[in-house]
Amino acid sequence: MRTARDGLRFALRRWLSGAPAPRLGLVYSPRYRLGGSGVAHDPYRGEKVLGFLAAHRLVRRGGVEVPPIAPWRSLRRVHEVDYLESLADPATLTRIVGVEVDERARARFLELQRRMAGGTRLAVSRALAGRGVVLHLGGGLHHAFPGRGERFCLLNDVAVAVVEARREGLAGPVLVVDCDLHDGDGTRAVFARDPTVHTFSIHNQSSGTDPDAVESTSLELGSGVDDATCLAALAEALPPLVERLRPALVVYLAGADPAEDDEIGDWRMSGAGLLERDRLVTGLVRGSGRRGGRSGVPLVVATAGGYGRAAWRHTARYAAWLMTGREIEPPSDEELTLARYRRAAAALRVAELTGENGADDAGAAGWDLLEEDVLGPLAGAPPRRLLGFYSRDGVELALERVGLLDRLRELGYPRPTVALELGGEAGDTVRVYGGEDRRDLLIELRAARDRHSLPGFEVLRVEWLLLQNPRASFSRERPPLPGQRYPGLGLLAEVTALLVLMCERLKLDGLLFVPSHYHLAAQSRRYLRFVEPEDGARFRALERAVAGLGLGEATRAVDEGRLVDAETGERFEMPSMPMVLPVSDRLTERVTGERYRRRADRAEARFELVRTVPT
Ligand SMILES: [Zn+2]
Repeated sequence: MRTARDGLRFALRRWLSGAPAPRLGLVYSPRYRLGGSGVAHDPYRGEKVLGFLAAHRLVRRGGVEVPPIAPWRSLRRVHEVDYLESLADPATLTRIVGVEVDERARARFLELQRRMAGGTRLAVSRALAGRGVVLHLGGGLHHAFPGRGERFCLLNDVAVAVVEARREGLAGPVLVVDCDLHDGDGTRAVFARDPTVHTFSIHNQSSGTDPDAVESTSLELGSGVDDATCLAALAEALPPLVERLRPALVVYLAGADPAEDDEIGDWRMSGAGLLERDRLVTGLVRGSGRRGGRSGVPLVVATAGGYGRAAWRHTARYAAWLMTGREIEPPSDEELTLARYRRAAAALRVAELTGENGADDAGAAGWDLLEEDVLGPLAGAPPRRLLGFYSRDGVELALERVGLLDRLRELGYPRPTVALELGGEAGDTVRVYGGEDRRDLLIELRAARDRHSLPGFEVLRVEWLLLQNPRASFSRERPPLPGQRYPGLGLLAEVTALLVLMCERLKLDGLLFVPSHYHLAAQSRRYLRFVEPEDGARFRALERAVAGLGLGEATRAVDEGRLVDAETGERFEMPSMPMVLPVSDRLTERVTGERYRRRADRAEARFELVRTVPT
């Protein structure tokens, strides 16, 4: 596992390495974050890609073009008027998007997709003007038909862009290469009777619409498709098509949803396989200019599908390759978050965090320390600072600067409120509520400085961490975990990054957490390591024994004593297994070094558990 410090080193190394000038046009709008709750899109996909490119100095301020909203008259050239009018009704969107849509969400979804239509249109006109490659970090809403929308797609941005380019004089054939996991049925329907636009789609299941479209290719590969199968199908079908058509423009939907780590997709393509696919399409298009010596055919890339937190990395890999011709591995989500938070935190002055030098003088700064914020169990002067350092205002400011409060606002809590409860037996508590009425508790963290749990080190001991979204509902895919009242916030990476920054600021060796249940250990494993390598081996045995069970069911199996030691037949009880996220070099060495690894190897074979059949 990469530690936080590795992440920093990574970021620094990349910052220092020079890079050739980009030859790629970029189109993106910060308004794409509108996303909408309840859908699996990562609203930060585009921003993460840009953050990664910026860290490699591949994009600079002003290097990204921001698209306008597509006007209704453009949309009417592709979509039927009755259908466009029906988009004024939230019920229409509820059906298309697949989650309950109220008026506010309706306006957001519609703005988002109108902007994406504007984005693909802008990308097309830039590509045509410069005969280049333009990457639109959005778009690819290929299930939008002339008279209806399906599967999240309201407006067909690619169709709008192509039709508008035609009106502005683009002559010659257009090729749409749709490598999103799903059938590009909406786009095929738009151009079903247009012999000048070939719609090529390679996908898992055909939806069965317009099989007789005059210029189209539809390749149905089924589910479970791996790199070799997809690449072979593409390599066979696409080159002769490009050769025959000699397109004047290619729009490529580089969907990331065929990836094995996609949250909803059913294919098994690797990151390397997807990049190979993207290179294949790009090479074919750019190398297919009509005459030797001329640059290739104008190519517009839309990002299309890709669900969950991993999707951005596939897009980032492709973007970096387009710009440099090299393969650059994007950092993990956690590293990216930490690097971003670190930049924001570096801009905070100590006085702003602690309120020293009068910075948090209630009168002068215009804020109040609420009475219950400083409740302490001891007589005499109550503690005034979180972990002896941060004032309430400082915490709020830090959360604001790193963008965490904005994330909460985007989840529908317009006035997040921070409260502290200091000096409790198990440590200090920070609570973040959704509003000033303190009804919706979103974040609750109880932590203390701790010199005893890990002899020789001082750590930030996290006693309790709750991240919940009281306005979200559980789904069949995400049922409640034991003890969970509401679904999570989806901000564990961000909060972990903040805790790492706190350790750095307070010169602590790292974070310490002792999971009380199986699922807490399983969730923490992404960020933390077991202090004792034997615990790591024990936990892996546990994982093997509950393989195939959901997280909640696995925890119940452990708690109900359904796991027994393979050798002794004794009932397994989860021991105290402390985990750490090392921040100092010393603690990093302690839990990743040679000695740790040797002990881990020796421990590996010692634990074997079996699951008994429930009676
Ligand atoms: Zn898709």
